[in-house]
Amino acid sequence: MQLWNGILNITVLGSGTSVGVPTIGCRCEVCTSSDSRDRRLRPSVLVRYGERAVLIDTTPDFRQQALRANIDRLDAILYTHAHADHIMGLDDVRPFNFRQRGPIPVYGSAETIIAIRNCFGYIFDNGYKESSIPRIEARLFQEDPIDLHGLEFLPVPLSHGRGTVHGFRFGSAAYLTDHSDIPGASLAKLQDLDVLFLDALRHKPHPTHSTVERSLKHVEQLAPRRAFFTHICHDLPHERTESRLPPHVRLAYDGLEITVEIKP
Ligand SMILES: [Zn+2]
Ligand SMILES: [Zn+2]
Ligand SMILES: [Zn+2]
Repeated sequence: MQLWNGILNITVLGSGTSVGVPTIGCRCEVCTSSDSRDRRLRPSVLVRYGERAVLIDTTPDFRQQALRANIDRLDAILYTHAHADHIMGLDDVRPFNFRQRGPIPVYGSAETIIAIRNCFGYIFDNGYKESSIPRIEARLFQEDPIDLHGLEFLPVPLSHGRGTVHGFRFGSAAYLTDHSDIPGASLAKLQDLDVLFLDALRHKPHPTHSTVERSLKHVEQLAPRRAFFTHICHDLPHERTESRLPPHVRLAYDGLEITVEIKP
């Protein structure tokens, strides 16, 4: 049951691969580029609708991303998976706890929540602490849509090498980071999209990530109105790569904002 309708806003907080672009120590054409779209923080998006703001993943760059996008509240965090480039900024949700005077609900698969517990043991340790820690409420999702203030976020299972991660569909938009393939049952959940974000690391094949060529095939198959590639490494210069893509397929870049109309 979808209650919320209106204009939804998606802000790309980071469009880069796990090490970011520029990559430490690298002097390649993209890492030294003067095009601001070639500077890519770790991958994440913010979804705003009405008064609400939902964050997908807390990257190691989250503090910088939140400052740049002027994020002043967080109603929930959805996790795609627990790789370091998607979770390591969790400690930086503390200012939202102070501002909102309460915990933030955090959603993940059972595997993701266990990994976050292992990684951030101090958050879940109930002993007395002298300094502040993030206050979160961990909530598990499976196949069912997650209702966040009237907007449903549908978890979409994806193959990430040998592992399974989740993308999310909300209204006519979907965000699918880190995947090497999209299983058939998930393709069925991605029909009739206005906007599709998907992983396109580089041209050369990779065991856990999609390539420009493979993601173009998925775009062709799913036929969204617009598609944006993300989780991009330093092999892809923004301008030159885009010039070879069909006009409805673009490379995401940090700071990109997209609006989507959510109909009842
Ligand atoms: Zn990643
Ligand atoms: Zn480089
Ligand atoms: Zn990953």
